[in-house]
This record gives sequence, C-alpha cells and structure tokens, in this order.
Amino acid sequence: MEGVEASEKVKRTTPRLCSLCNQRKAALRRPKTLEQICRECFYNVFEDEIHRVIVENNLFKPGDRIAIGASGGKDSTVLAYVLSELNKRHNYGLDLFLLSIDEGITGYRDDSLETVKRNEIQYGLPLKIVSYKELYQWTMDEIVKAIGLKNNCTFCGVFRRQALDRGAALIQADKIVTGHNADDIAETVLLNILRGDIARLSRCTSITTGEDGPIPRCKPFKYTYEKEIVMYAYFKKLDYFSTECIYSPNAYRGFAREFIKDLERIRPRAILDIIRSGEDFRISTTTRMPEQGTCQQCGYISSQKLCKACVLLEGLNRGLPKLGIGRKKVCSGEDQVQSKRHLENKALSFHGKHGNVEWKR
Ligand code: SF4
Repeated sequence: MEGVEASEKVKRTTPRLCSLCNQRKAALRRPKTLEQICRECFYNVFEDEIHRVIVENNLFKPGDRIAIGASGGKDSTVLAYVLSELNKRHNYGLDLFLLSIDEGITGYRDDSLETVKRNEIQYGLPLKIVSYKELYQWTMDEIVKAIGLKNNCTFCGVFRRQALDRGAALIQADKIVTGHNADDIAETVLLNILRGDIARLSRCTSITTGEDGPIPRCKPFKYTYEKEIVMYAYFKKLDYFSTECIYSPNAYRGFAREFIKDLERIRPRAILDIIRSGEDFRISTTTRMPEQGTCQQCGYISSQKLCKACVLLEGLNRGLPKLGIGRKKVCSGEDQVQSKRHLENKALSFHGKHGNVEWKR
C-alpha cells in the first residue's frame, strides 16, 4: 500500500515531458491538438505548419514583393515576424514590406501605428503608411461624427480594402498578405451562412483571393489558431498592440466569435471543421454571380458602375451618408456588359484617383 502511495506521489511530482521531443519539460498545452509540449517544440510546429501552408498552396515565388498588412495587432505582428524568419530560413527570396492603413482614429490607430513603426526597426522591414485622409479626405473620426456609430465599420471596411490595394500598388507589391487566422475565417463562414451571402461564402475560405484583380491577397494563417498566435507572441515577447478599436460595435460578429469559442472549448477541431465545411460548399452553376468590372469613377475593381467606396464617399460628401448602405442592387445585364467592356479597355492597367493620391501599377 505504501509502495502504491509513493509511486502516485512520484507520478504527481515528476514533471510531464514534452509529448513531441520526450526530452524537455512540457510548458504548455497546444490549443489546436491539446498535446502537452515544450516551448521549443511549440515554436517548431507553429512555424513548420505555416511553412507547409505556404509551400503547399504556392503562395509565393522567388523575387515577389510582398506587402504585409500591418496593424500593430497580434496577428499581423506575428505574421511579419514569422514570415521574415521563414524567408531567411527557407530562402523564399521575398522582398517583404510592412503596409499600414491609418484610418484616422484618435486614441487607437495613432497608438497602434507607433507599434508598427517599432516593428519596422525590430524586423528591418520597410514600412509604408497610407491614410484615409489622403485617399478620401475623410478620417474615421470625421465619418463617425457625420454618421454616428451605426454603419461606421461598413465605411471603414470598404475604405480599408481599397486603401490596402492602393498602398500595395504604391510600393509595387506583387501580393498582399494579411493576418486573418483560422478563427476569423470560421467566423466569416458562419456569418456568410447566416446572411445567405453565397458569393462571399464561396470566396471567404480561399487562401488566395483577387487573382483576377490587380494585386492578389493571401492568408498564410488560414489554419492557424488565434490562441496559438497569442501564445507565440507572448512566449517570443513580440511587441504588439492589443487595444480594441474605440468604434468597434460589431455585435453580430461578436456573437459568432463567442459561439466558435464555445465550440472550440468542447472540441478544438471545430474551427477547422467549419473552415472545411465552407470550402466544401459548392455553388450551383445556375446561380448568377456578379461579374467583375471596374469603377467608372476611380478605376477600382467593381461589379457595379461605381465601386462601393465611390458610392459611400458620394454620400458623405453630399451629406447623405446612408447612400450606399444596405443591400446591393443586382447589376442589370446592360451594366454588366458595360463593366466588362470597361475592364477589357483597361486591360492590365490599374490606375485611378481618389483625392490627391494617384495610384498606378
Ligand atoms: Fe474600422 Fe470598425 Fe475595425 Fe474600428 S472596428 S477599425 S471602425 S472596421
């Protein structure tokens, strides 16, 4: 009896060994697999998985100029760090840049941009910042003053998307990479199902999007769990900014996020399963999808005569901020033919003008 008690005690006091190397002490439980592993093995599996995703999906080719969408938050900071490490370790031959968007949100973006400026020095990556003010003559602070806190994220999302493309064009990037992680993608799958948005549902799980547009974007963290990104940043002591945007309501997305976190607690694979479900959705060939053309005003990609940013800007400038908010009208056949003709005329040119910033590629 005494022997049994003694062996139980030894069991309880002996530190658990890493289940991967079986040599070092386990320091954490990996959120994705629940394995008990040491820090060194965690760094290795975390980085190797991202490398595998990059190679298996042919995300880059040697000589590519890559703009890393950098907000100063944990995802993009870890992305910039890991990508520059993998670039050196595996000789990807990439030219990496940090590209930040200044939405003009006092007390939030100004602080997070300071983090990106430090990252520029820490990782030795050149930084380009483009602002809403220079592109659109409006800051988010001014937009919120004009429209209130109801549709602010619609404006911000549309403007950011274009701003990233315009900034990437300015630094002649071949590709934009963003820090969207597996949790973000699973949330987007759920939201698109809840909204019945078939067009977005079919796109949102693609690791690379916009291949037929001016600058494709990709998500090397497509299968990387948010919790692991946080752990990695914490253990590596990376310098990132963790405050939420002061205008962040996004209650709908917040519910989807909480729901996924609940599922993850019960079954960690749930996140990957939702992504897989999104990937396996097939669009019926009879479903009419919007045809892509270019905006007649600024030349940006659009399935309508005017792109969403131009419509929103027109509303803001005319004092009718609700213009352009809400469901999109379906493009008429004639509109689509015109858009297509416009795209053909513009062929490979990617140029336009918003405010006093000219963008060319
Ligand atoms: Fe923009 Fe909304 Fe995100 Fe704030 S929470 S940065 S307003 S999209």
